[in-house]
Amino acid sequence: MIAADESLETLRAEHEALIQFLYLAPVGLVQAGMDGEIVMINPISAQLLMPLSPDGNLTNLFAALEDVAPDLRLQCRQYPSNHGMVFEGLHIHLRASDQGRATPQILSLTLLKLDDTRLMAVIKDVTAEVRRERQLRQSDAWLNAILTRISDYALAALDRHGRLCDWNDSIARVTGFGEHVVGSPYSVFYPQDAMTPEHLLDRLREADHNGWSMDEGLRLRADGSQFWGSALIAPLPDREAFDLDDRDVDHDRDCAPAYCLILRDISDKRAASEKRRQAAFCDHLTSLANRRAFFEAADLELDRAAHTPRQLALVVFDADHFKHINDRHGHPAGDRVLCDLANALRDTFRAVDTVARIGGEEFAVLLPSTGLAQALAIAERLCVAVSTRLVAVDGAEIAYTVSAGVAVLAAGAAGASNGIDALIKRADQALYAAKTGGRNRVAAWTPDLPNHENTPQRSRHAG
Ligand code: GH3
Ligand code: MG
Ligand code: MG
Repeated sequence: MIAADESLETLRAEHEALIQFLYLAPVGLVQAGMDGEIVMINPISAQLLMPLSPDGNLTNLFAALEDVAPDLRLQCRQYPSNHGMVFEGLHIHLRASDQGRATPQILSLTLLKLDDTRLMAVIKDVTAEVRRERQLRQSDAWLNAILTRISDYALAALDRHGRLCDWNDSIARVTGFGEHVVGSPYSVFYPQDAMTPEHLLDRLREADHNGWSMDEGLRLRADGSQFWGSALIAPLPDREAFDLDDRDVDHDRDCAPAYCLILRDISDKRAASEKRRQAAFCDHLTSLANRRAFFEAADLELDRAAHTPRQLALVVFDADHFKHINDRHGHPAGDRVLCDLANALRDTFRAVDTVARIGGEEFAVLLPSTGLAQALAIAERLCVAVSTRLVAVDGAEIAYTVSAGVAVLAAGAAGASNGIDALIKRADQALYAAKTGGRNRVAAWTPDLPNHENTPQRSRHAG
C-alpha cells in the first residue's frame, strides 16, 4: 500500500515537473481537446495568440485561429490515426495591423494528436526565418534551373521592350512558332490571361536589377497546346545602355537585342514542383491559393506597383449567412458549398489574378493592372453566377449567395500607402457596406464609408 502511494507520489511529482517544463518552454505550447478547447497554455503561446482572439478570451485554439488558419478543425477531424503529427510547421500569416507592428508576423504551428481526446500545439514566431528563406529560394530557383532535367529549350533575343528580335530553329522546335513571331512580345509564349503588359516589363526590370529573372508555369505553343516550362530572362552583357522607362528613343536602337530569353520545356519536372507548391501555397479544402500565397503575391504586386505605377484591384468575397448553411445542412455540407464557391471564383478570374481563401468563408482576389469599373463588373458577374448555382449534398440542393467589397490602389499610390493591409481594410469596409446593404451584392470603397474597426464580424484579423 505504501509502495503504491509512493509511486503515485513520484508520478505526481513527474507530472508537476512536466507541466513546469511545458510552462517555461522557450516555444509556445498549447494543450487542447479535440474540439480545440484549451486545457493548458503557456505564456509564450498566450502572448502570440492573444492578439488574434476577438474578445481577448482565449478558450478555444480553433476559434482563435479560425480566421487566419481556417483549415485546422477540418484537418484534425480528417486525421486518420488516433495519434501522430497532424501537420508540421504550418505557416500562419498575420497582418501587420493585427498587432500594430510594422511588418506582418508569421507564426509556425505544429499540431500533434496525442490520443483520441488530446491535441498539443507548438507555436513559434518565424517571421525573420521566413524572410531569409524567401531570399534563399531565389538562389535555389537559379540553381534548380541549371540542374533540372529538361526536355528541350529555345533561345531567343528580346529587345528592350521584350519583343522577339529574331527567330531560329529552337523556337520552332519548342513552341512551333514560325518567323512571323518576330516583333511580338515574349508573352506570346504564355497562355492568354497569364501575363499583363506591365508584368512583361516587370520581368525585364527584375532581370536588370538582379542579373536574371525566372518564372515557371504553363507555356503556350503556336497550335494552342500548353506545356510546363520555365522562362529565364537575362540582360545581354554587350547591349547598348538604355533606360527601360524612357520609350522616346530612335527606332533602330529600340529594336536592338537587349535580353536573352531561355524558354525550357520542363514537363518532366512538373509533377514534383507542383506537389511542392501545393503543399506550401494551397488551401487544403479548396486548393485555391492560401493566405501565405496571397500575401506573397500581394507583396510582390505592391512592390512592382511602387516601382512602376499602375492600378491594382482587390475584391474580398464573404459567403452570406454561412452560419445558417452550416446549422441547417451540417459543417461537411458547408465545406462542399465553399468548394463550389472556389470553383466559381476559379472560373471567373484570369490566370494572372491571385484567387485565395484568406479566412473560413472569406476569399480575396488580387487583380493586377485592373481599375475599379472592371473589378466591379467582374465581382458582380461572380455574385450573379453564384446566386444561380445549387450545390447538391445528400439529396438536398443548397442555394447560397456571396457579398463582395472592392477597393483599388490608384496608379502611383503604392509607395505612399502602407501596403496590402490598407487595401484590405478598404475592401473590408466596402464588404461591410454590401452586407449591411442587404447582402448578395457588390460595393466599392468610397472615402465616406464608415470605419467599423470594432465590428466583430470584420474585425481586423478577420479576412
Ligand atoms: P454574414 O452574411 O454576415 O457573413 O453571415 P455569416 O453567418 O456568414 O458570418 P459569420 O462570420 O458570423 O460566420 C461565418 C461562419 O462560417 C461561421 C463558421 O463556423 C463558418 N465557417 C468558417 N470556416 C468554415 C469552414 O471551413 N467550413 C465550414 N463549413 N464553415 C466554416
Ligand atoms: Mg466572414
Ligand atoms: Mg459570411
